[in-house]
Amino acid sequence: MLAVEQAKVEAFVNDFRGRVVFPNDSDYDEVRAVWNGMIDKRPAMIAQCMGTADVISSVNFAQEHGLPVSARGGGHNVAGNALCDDGIVIDFSKMKLVRVDPTAKRAYVSAGATLADLDHETQAFGLAAVGGVDSRTGVAGLTLGGGTGYLSRAYGISADNLMSADVVTAGGNLVHASEEENPDLLWALRGGGGNFGVLTSFEFKLHEVGPEVMTAQIFHPIEKGKEVLQFHRDFLKNAPDKLSVYALVVHVPPIAPFPEEFHGKSAIALVACYAGDMTEGKKLLEPLENFGDPILKAVMPMPYKVLQQSFDAGTPDGQRYYYKSQYLTELSDSAIDTILNYTKDLPGPFTIIGVEPMGGAINQVDKSATAFPHRNAAFNLGIWSGWSDSVEDTEMINWSREFHTAMEPFSTGGVYSNYMSDDEESRVKEAYGGNFDRLTKVKTKYDPDNFFRRNQNIKP
Ligand SMILES: Cc1cc2nc3c(=O)[nH]c(=O)nc-3n(C[C@H](O)[C@H](O)[C@H](O)COP(=O)(O)OP(=O)(O)OC[C@H]3O[C@@H](n4cnc5c(N)ncnc54)[C@H](O)[C@@H]3O)c2cc1C
Repeated sequence: MLAVEQAKVEAFVNDFRGRVVFPNDSDYDEVRAVWNGMIDKRPAMIAQCMGTADVISSVNFAQEHGLPVSARGGGHNVAGNALCDDGIVIDFSKMKLVRVDPTAKRAYVSAGATLADLDHETQAFGLAAVGGVDSRTGVAGLTLGGGTGYLSRAYGISADNLMSADVVTAGGNLVHASEEENPDLLWALRGGGGNFGVLTSFEFKLHEVGPEVMTAQIFHPIEKGKEVLQFHRDFLKNAPDKLSVYALVVHVPPIAPFPEEFHGKSAIALVACYAGDMTEGKKLLEPLENFGDPILKAVMPMPYKVLQQSFDAGTPDGQRYYYKSQYLTELSDSAIDTILNYTKDLPGPFTIIGVEPMGGAINQVDKSATAFPHRNAAFNLGIWSGWSDSVEDTEMINWSREFHTAMEPFSTGGVYSNYMSDDEESRVKEAYGGNFDRLTKVKTKYDPDNFFRRNQNIKP
């Protein structure tokens, strides 16, 4: 229930260029839905901004009437921080403009663009920004938390490639953050999350990639898991930075060309991308291609855009999801045994266990050079649980937690803020590591009253 005088609400709506969605609108449930179907927040207003003026008036309206706010980019965050109960969602989903300057190799990206939008525009010029590996993810949330994907070992995390941003502060002022202007703010935005203001636009450094890249997608039976994960670990040790290989424990999709006897069973997929010369890539992937006796293998050039979308269908919108994750110092044999202990019979049809490669350019940046401190890990282990029926909530959440606890002996002690579930507030310090105190100072400067707190929150 919105405790604001009707005339004030009407004045706000009349001056708004986008649309404001209210609980009595017929599409309210559709508009407030996010990727994680576990999230059921009921905002009083969803302000679908069309530009910076709408964003400023949303911030001012919320401040004036003491309403909670949240910022929605792609709506993909597992914790559901894009939404708030009884407050205003500053919804960027209609602001998707991406402008590329091919000569300067820069992209200027509005805050509602997804990775699919960004890839579409940049790939037209044979360029790419560093993104994640699911094309539906919002550029905004991904970048603010860090952002790792197939190009990260070559070019760093997304936040390392953020050159500047436009930010609306808690006071409703527009400020620019770059190396020259407000460099403390740019430092904090490179991994410190949505704590410091709402961003309307991002400027990224682009790299020459594609339009085709050399890829491998190779599925092995889970029974061969130990050999496959050992191979993955050892292979990456000597791999060049332009080569990225993910190991993913997944369910074999019940479709051709996967052999029927494996449908629905656990398998380990090695997914690789070489962001360089094709012939070189093909040669580099030979050991992967020749390893073991896989269920299915595809080693081939693929449009980068298609690779980016190839796992989207595995985690459909609106299902129930719960994440636990931690960075691993290395993938020891005991770590591998523990992973396999929990995954021989993977629960939940949409569950994926990700062993994400770090290293390369990610780890060549100093821990304190940006807000993102995780520059010493070999892998990020994601326990990404997904299921359909609420009856299974407790069982799936408990399984994820137990698995996570069993992996703690192998952890760096760090967690990726973008993979934190909504019950993990106590891990915020682990997410920001040694940068936490400096982030607190920047938070205190730009948001002293913690107006922006629907995030992995740093308190002023
Ligand atoms: C299926 C799936 C795959 C993923 N794969 C990867 C991956 O490969 N690599 C990776 O690094 N991450 C990955 N992620 C994690 C992803 O980066 C985070 O979930 C991220 O928060 C999503 O951003 P979003 O804009 O879509 O989310 P939203 O839920 O819209 O926003 C998340 C948070 O970001 C902040 N925010 C969003 N927009 C703004 C803004 N304009 N201004 C200020 N703050 C804002 C807010 O705090 C908000 O609560 C994946 C997530 C999913 C669900």
